[in-house]
Amino acid sequence: MKIFNKGFNFGQDGPGNRLVYHLQGCNMHCIWCSNPEGMSSNGGKEYTIKEIISEVLSCKAMFFSGGGVTFTGGEATIWHSELLKILQRLKAENIHTCIETNGTSPHLMALSDFVDYLIMDFKIFDSEESKKYTGIGNEKIKENFESLARSGRQLHIRIPLINGINTHNPVEFASYFSRFATDNTVFEFLKYHEYGKEKWKTEYKVNNGFVTDECLNEFVQIFRKHNLKLTIT
Ligand code: SF4
Repeated sequence: MKIFNKGFNFGQDGPGNRLVYHLQGCNMHCIWCSNPEGMSSNGGKEYTIKEIISEVLSCKAMFFSGGGVTFTGGEATIWHSELLKILQRLKAENIHTCIETNGTSPHLMALSDFVDYLIMDFKIFDSEESKKYTGIGNEKIKENFESLARSGRQLHIRIPLINGINTHNPVEFASYFSRFATDNTVFEFLKYHEYGKEKWKTEYKVNNGFVTDECLNEFVQIFRKHNLKLTIT
């Protein structure tokens, strides 16, 4: 599998101190992507399954405060067959595992059996708009969200808030989520930023995506009214 970045961070990509692998390639093409270098299937450095497993095991002492390993992207599930083997082995070694995913993979449920902490994006409520801004409709994302939520397992949903793209329908988002969310489902809003803008080699197409505190508060209030659990960062 190919990796374009790796390193430790604390509490940003799952709980505790984590070794985070950014896997190369993504099936979406979000116009605000902050890691455009990870989108293409070209690039990154090739690692074998064995190399990753032994690297993770050698870092065991670093996984303090409930930490472990996180696979993100790009889109981690592009590498689902390699990832499944790695996750199975790491679980057998009692390593805490996390994946961050855009939620589009038909293999997500199978992978989730070996994931302790699952973070999934839910970017756009309307499928046509999803296609327009990310290159992919959201039918599979909804299906995966519903199955994962119904399973009652821990699920962390991240919603990037982007002015002019997905901030006009907080009620639609919240009433949909409230039909499936359980006590183990938590939601997080990520305010639009432009940390990755300079890395785009083609035209960056978001115009004034920044959201106001009022907009964020509106989402928070509406989600609370729908009894949805929030994590505020
Ligand atoms: S899903 Fe994530 S990695 Fe893929 S294009 Fe969108 S923001 Fe970038």
